[in-house]
Amino acid sequence: MANPPLQKCDICGEPQDTQNYEGKNICTICYDVMEDIMADYFLKVIESGNRNRPEHLYVKYIESNIKFMSDKSRIMEKVPQHLKTTEKRLLFNLSYENLTSRKRFYEYALKVLEWLKNNQWFYKYYFKNIYRCPKCGASLFDNYVKETKGEWVIISCAVCNNVVRKYYKPEIL
Ligand SMILES: [Zn+2]
Ligand SMILES: [Zn+2]
Repeated sequence: MANPPLQKCDICGEPQDTQNYEGKNICTICYDVMEDIMADYFLKVIESGNRNRPEHLYVKYIESNIKFMSDKSRIMEKVPQHLKTTEKRLLFNLSYENLTSRKRFYEYALKVLEWLKNNQWFYKYYFKNIYRCPKCGASLFDNYVKETKGEWVIISCAVCNNVVRKYYKPEIL
């Protein structure tokens, strides 16, 4: 008679309400935090990829298949540094936060981060369909446009204008 038991969240151990990432048991609270952490990483990685690259060279970049092949490893390149700086930032913010709801957010974020430290493959999983534009195949390292619209940050492909990702208030960390 009883409903089948809910899967437990791999990160916080609470019952998972819905499956937010395909094939992964991550609850909605942890998912929201994860999206913030990944948005932060995504923006950092693609922005560092774009630095000092004049616009007229973009077409040359996307024509290079060698570039495409290296994108997978480029995604993982800054992971250790990102884990470290994010943890520092979270601990700092937590120590100065008085609002209970914000404290709770930082505590969850630390849990998610701890899990990420032991599961770094998640970065690869998360970005596997994002580092290239799903529509035209251009590498987003060299071809993206970042726009802020109200509370949203929108990443789109500079080659075909396809919206690749929308993030809600990712500066929350
Ligand atoms: Zn959870
Ligand atoms: Zn595109």
